[in-house]
Amino acid sequence: MNETLSYVNPGPDSPWTTYLSQVDRVLPYLGPLARWAETLRRPKRALVVDVPIELDDGRVAHFEGFRVQHNLSRGPGKGGVRYHPDVTLEEVMALAAWMSIKNAAVNLPYGGAKGGIRVDPKQLSTKELEKLTRRYTSEIGIIIGPMQDIPAPDVNTNAQVMAWMMDTYSMNVGATATGVVTGKPIHLGGSLGRVKATGRGVFVTGREAARRIGLNLDGARVAVQGFGNVGSSAAELFVQAGSRIVAIQDHSGTIVNEHGFDFAELMPHVRATGGVAGFKGGDAAPAESFWDVKCEVLIPAALEGQINADRANRITAKLVLEGANGPTLPVADDILGDRGVLVVPDVICNAGGVTVSYFEWVQDFSSFFWTEDEINVRLDKIMVGALKTIWDTADRHGVSLRTATFAVACERILMARQERGLYP
Ligand code: NAD
Repeated sequence: MNETLSYVNPGPDSPWTTYLSQVDRVLPYLGPLARWAETLRRPKRALVVDVPIELDDGRVAHFEGFRVQHNLSRGPGKGGVRYHPDVTLEEVMALAAWMSIKNAAVNLPYGGAKGGIRVDPKQLSTKELEKLTRRYTSEIGIIIGPMQDIPAPDVNTNAQVMAWMMDTYSMNVGATATGVVTGKPIHLGGSLGRVKATGRGVFVTGREAARRIGLNLDGARVAVQGFGNVGSSAAELFVQAGSRIVAIQDHSGTIVNEHGFDFAELMPHVRATGGVAGFKGGDAAPAESFWDVKCEVLIPAALEGQINADRANRITAKLVLEGANGPTLPVADDILGDRGVLVVPDVICNAGGVTVSYFEWVQDFSSFFWTEDEINVRLDKIMVGALKTIWDTADRHGVSLRTATFAVACERILMARQERGLYP
């Protein structure tokens, strides 16, 4: 009766296939709630939109846009918007589904959603980017809103993009609606601490996991893939804890330095050039050698599907902290587990961003804003508490942290589904 979805045809390494296999692994731990599990295998709602804009040279270009609401049983949809040339419907479906799991894992009153546009934003001028964002926001305006679905930044989107989205939505509804997006500029209802929150969450879960496995972060070697919002913010906190960042890979290249990079010199270089390539305080290295670098901690913070079976066999780290969404293929997950490498999965590791997005949304509704210290203390407390619950669940069932996170989250989602009942 429950047939596979006809509107996508995901390949074996596609993010949606990865997500479905993660759901399969949690089924034995759901007890009677497994009766409702099919709801996790299909998005509640998937909107595909055409986004036409007039380019600076007068031509008209059309882009594919998506907004997927995976599950809304626990509250409004929540999840970022990605601008990338590889965005597809099935990728956005997987990212939306991981948001359902993540939001439930940290017990936020949200369902899961995600959006994206298939575009290389680096090819557009600022004016064109603004037009693209505004038209996309108008097109998905029929399903987003402060109580319906609240977008936020993801790959290649930032506070400026959120400001355009907020303004467009507000113009269309005729009232300023700051709560429609999070990750906004501070003076437009944004929250202190939001920009670095995902990286901070990666660090907090990493710190706790390291403590539990007896790994000293002071002096530990860290390798980071992806040096954007998440990767650079996490790396900075590891440096403050005494760790050495010995390898970084981004879209521009791979650099290594066994003594650790000087952050005060690296950050201005990345800001000025847009990437790590050409940084004088390290050596350029071939891309594939990144996975062989000697390190104690590895932080994938770029895109999905980066850790395949081959790379999983070569990774030297004891601890993998998934800053990115979906960086590890299921086959690689098993190899890392067999090799005794602890993986703190995306669905808890990078939940710091959405947690502070939740703080931002609450502050917008109450029009009362918290200090950065208050934000960081509350974030730390939520992340530590959520990781403890997950760790205890993993011990109880004898499963990986990923399956334990899915167990905790799916139980909450399916309990809400059962209590609400099926309409009509
Ligand atoms: P970003 O756009 O700020 O940075 C992306 C980084 O990845 C850049 O350094 C880019 O050079 C690098 N990159 C792109 N393609 C690459 C490739 N092929 N190889 C190596 N590096 C590559 O994006 P971000 O917000 O830091 O997001 C990174 C990851 O974290 C994504 O998976 C995203 O879904 C996830 N995430 C982000 C947030 C958030 O709050 N921004 C929250 C949770 C999860």
